[in-house]
Amino acid sequence: MNTAYLLLGGNEGDTTLYLQSAYGLISASCGAIIQYSPVYQTAAWGLQEQPDFLNQVIAIHTTLSPFILLEKIQDIEKELGRQRTIKWGQRTLDIDILLYDDVVIDTPLLTIPHPSTPMRRFTLAPLAAIAPAYVHPVLKKTIQELLDECPDPLPTLRLDINLH
Ligand code: ATP
Ligand code: CA
Ligand code: CA
Repeated sequence: MNTAYLLLGGNEGDTTLYLQSAYGLISASCGAIIQYSPVYQTAAWGLQEQPDFLNQVIAIHTTLSPFILLEKIQDIEKELGRQRTIKWGQRTLDIDILLYDDVVIDTPLLTIPHPSTPMRRFTLAPLAAIAPAYVHPVLKKTIQELLDECPDPLPTLRLDINLH
């Protein structure tokens, strides 16, 4: 059994509902969800003229290989109505694979660990909430250390909601 950490994020439509739908779809097609981070609210990163994002990291136990897992999460994004229009634009739900055991993959289709993780507070804050001591397999630093060093100025607000 493998452990993967997935970042869920959205800023279009009823994001809390998309998150809850994603829990069911991910459990059914990818593997059991074993941890949920709190939900964090962040101003949009990259393109700023759009609504705030909600982000959450979940850990799953999966028997799927990383590439099959990517296919499944892309099917789920489609099912939840994501339209791919502009890069970093609004989306109903984006699902990224942040970590998959200690696997390192560097291809155009799939890069694990997700390459932007060290630069994004909205990723590191929820990830550190459930996996602070996890050692990044390339940078050899813990997630908590990466968060402490993160240069991203966009603050993340931990919301007091529980969706699962
Ligand atoms: P970013 O990756 O910077 O967060 P994004 O999530 O908006 O941007 P997408 O349009 O969702 O980007 O994804 C573009 C492509 O990234 C996907 O089609 C997928 O093949 C590729 N990709 C590479 N590594 C990963 C990963 N670890 N998790 C998810 N997708 C990945
Ligand atoms: Ca993303
Ligand atoms: Ca993505």
